[in-house]
Amino acid sequence: MFYFVKTPKLLHVLYEHAVWFLPNTDNKIYLTFDDGPVSDITPRCLDILKEFKVKATFFCVGENVVKNREIYQRIIDEGHAVGNHSFNHIKGWNTSNEVYFENITQCKEHIDSNLFRPPYGKAKRSQMANLKKDYKIIMWDVLSGDFDPRTSTTKVIENVVKNTETGSIIVMHDNEKCGHKMLETLPVIIEKLIEKGFEFDVCR
Ligand SMILES: [Zn+2]
Repeated sequence: MFYFVKTPKLLHVLYEHAVWFLPNTDNKIYLTFDDGPVSDITPRCLDILKEFKVKATFFCVGENVVKNREIYQRIIDEGHAVGNHSFNHIKGWNTSNEVYFENITQCKEHIDSNLFRPPYGKAKRSQMANLKKDYKIIMWDVLSGDFDPRTSTTKVIENVVKNTETGSIIVMHDNEKCGHKMLETLPVIIEKLIEKGFEFDVCR
């Protein structure tokens, strides 16, 4: 599977309705987790973040929040930020605008946030333009590659550590499919980024 580890600037131009990084002068970076909360992955992710005293942003899927309310509450209680990632993790580009917006609104009933990230990182321009009125659309500039079975744990670590700069928004996944790779690499990634002098903050 082909994917950009570092988002090309061209995409920033094509998707001008979205935020791709959060410029700052304090060495701040933004760790984000998509697709949870799920029972055997998210709590272990939270344990790691707690151990390193790191705050992150979780783009949650509404139906997973309904299934795992206590874990969702733990995310909030431990000081992390949450964002809307639709109710059923639907694809914007082959869904009518009406159905797409409805699914996001359904998610909003369970996730109190004005942050949104489109599932699969894609949506129609008309959808993005419309959502921008109610949400801050948070994309990323560093894709860990934890979702790709052919990307080794060493490579996931390298992808993140080499490409992160001040303001970077990093994507990892707390889902069943690739959560184990995320859990294995996360402590090393955090350690190396702290060594480089970065500070973790939540998207807002
Ligand atoms: Zn997703």
